[in-house]
Amino acid sequence: MILILLGPPGAGKGSQAKLIVDEFKVNHISTGDIFRKNIKEETDLGLKVKDIIAKGELVSDELTNELVFETLSKENTPAGFMLDGYPRNINQAKALDKWLEENNKEVTEVILVDADVNVLIERISGRRVCKNCGATYHVKNLPPKVEGICDVCGNELVQRPDDNEETARDRIEVYNEQTSPLIDYYEKSGRLARFDGNEDIDVVYEHVRNSLK
Ligand code: ADP
Ligand code: AMP
Repeated sequence: MILILLGPPGAGKGSQAKLIVDEFKVNHISTGDIFRKNIKEETDLGLKVKDIIAKGELVSDELTNELVFETLSKENTPAGFMLDGYPRNINQAKALDKWLEENNKEVTEVILVDADVNVLIERISGRRVCKNCGATYHVKNLPPKVEGICDVCGNELVQRPDDNEETARDRIEVYNEQTSPLIDYYEKSGRLARFDGNEDIDVVYEHVRNSLK
């Protein structure tokens, strides 16, 4: 199974990804997570992308495609993989299609999760992530048992530098301009399934899992 998670920042892609991985055992490949890991470890790539990500802009297609194809060439999870946050524009989508064709692979389903802009802003502003294991919480919708502490590993919860309201609005604008044309792109090839991300996480997931069975 090869899945693509598409949708604006804060729509709940990462939250759905976790549930999909638990049930369908695919490998979750999030370009945002890979970039953040590189920033944390201060690698060359991390140093190159740190300021771009903090501003809410897109990393160059060249760097992103190279990173994704290198990751995919090592990928051998029996159940398949799921891309989250990639592709982010038509150029990346065409590059991915070319890579898949060359490697005799096909996208099974593109999962579009969308939500209203006020919902996106509220979710992004309230998102907290564990510094250590990356588990995601929300101050109101999904609070940890102890404020500021990860339920899973007991480490500190932090706010992503790009999760403030101003940058969130910029990221949504980038999505609308550069990423949303992918909806048409994938719809034309009959691979798109749409889900209403305004609903509760479990309700959204119920629809997603039914579409994958
Ligand atoms: P994305 O990966 O699309 O940026 P996340 O899955 O990280 O989004 O979700 C953003 C924030 O909103 C997180 O704090 C998460 O806990 C919360 N969240 C995600 N989906 C829902 C939902 N359906 N209802 C309420 N809160 C949600
Ligand atoms: P995300 O975790 O998906 O919200 O991504 C966080 C940030 O990483 C984005 O705002 C971009 O700066 C960068 N990023 C993630 N994926 C891509 C991509 N496919 N192309 C370009 N930039 C990306």
